[in-house]
Amino acid sequence: MTIKSVIIQCLDLIFPRRLTCYFCEEELPPHNTSALCEHCVDEIVRLDGHQCMKCGRTIEIAYAQHADYYFKCKECQEKFTFFSKHRSFGEYSGHLKMAIMGLKYKKQIYQAQFFGEQLAMMIEKDEALLDFDIIVPVPIHLTRRMMRGYNQAERIAFYLAKTLNANPPEELLVRTRHTKKLKNLNKASRKAMLENAIIVKRYKKNRVKGQKILLVDDIYTTGATLDACSKALYEAGCDQINCITVARGV
Ligand SMILES: [Zn+2]
Ligand SMILES: [Zn+2]
Repeated sequence: MTIKSVIIQCLDLIFPRRLTCYFCEEELPPHNTSALCEHCVDEIVRLDGHQCMKCGRTIEIAYAQHADYYFKCKECQEKFTFFSKHRSFGEYSGHLKMAIMGLKYKKQIYQAQFFGEQLAMMIEKDEALLDFDIIVPVPIHLTRRMMRGYNQAERIAFYLAKTLNANPPEELLVRTRHTKKLKNLNKASRKAMLENAIIVKRYKKNRVKGQKILLVDDIYTTGATLDACSKALYEAGCDQINCITVARGV
C-alpha cells in the first residue's frame, strides 16, 4: 500500500460520502458511486451537440448546419491557445454548478468521483482526448489547498484516471502566486493575473519533455487558466495538450 493510497483512505474517512442525493435528498441505492440520484443526473445540461472543434463551445443552431468536424468558433479563429482541444461535461448551471460548489466550498469530496467517472465516459468516445501519456490536474495555490484540504482538480483527475485504468495523475504544475479569485475579472485582467503564476515544478521538467498531456480542471470560463498551464507545459517541452473540465461557464 502506497503512502498516497493511505492518504486517500484517510480523506475518505474525514470527508465521508453522503447516502442521500445532495440536491433532492432522495435516498441513494447502496454502493451508489454518484452523489446524485438518477433524476438529478438527467437534469444536467450536457454539452455534446455541435461544438467548436477546439474549445467545445456549443454552436448556435443557425450555424450548426454549416458546421463540420473542423468548425471553429469566432473566438478560436482569432485567438491562439497553447492547448489543442477542450471539452466540458456539462453547462455550469443548476445542479451541476451546485455540485461543483459543494466540492470546492463544502468539503463534498465525494462529488469528485462522480465527475471523474463522467469525464472518463466522455473521453472514452473521443480519440483525440484519449491520446495522452500523463493526466495533469490544474494546480491551486498551497495556502488555498491547505484551507480546503485538497485540490478539487486533483481529486477529479484521480477518479478519472482510476476509471480509465490509467496511471494516477501527476501534479507537475504549481501556482507561485496566490491569485485573486478570477471569476469577476474580464479576459485581459485574467491573463495579466495569471502571467507566470503557474509554472512546471523545477524537478519535474524532464518528466514533461515529449509527453502528451491531458489537463483536468473543474470549470472552464474563458480558458485563461488552462492556457496558462498549457504555456508552462509547452515551455518545458511537452508534445501536445488537450483539456477537459467538468463544466463550462455560459
Ligand atoms: Zn436528486
Ligand atoms: Zn472555440
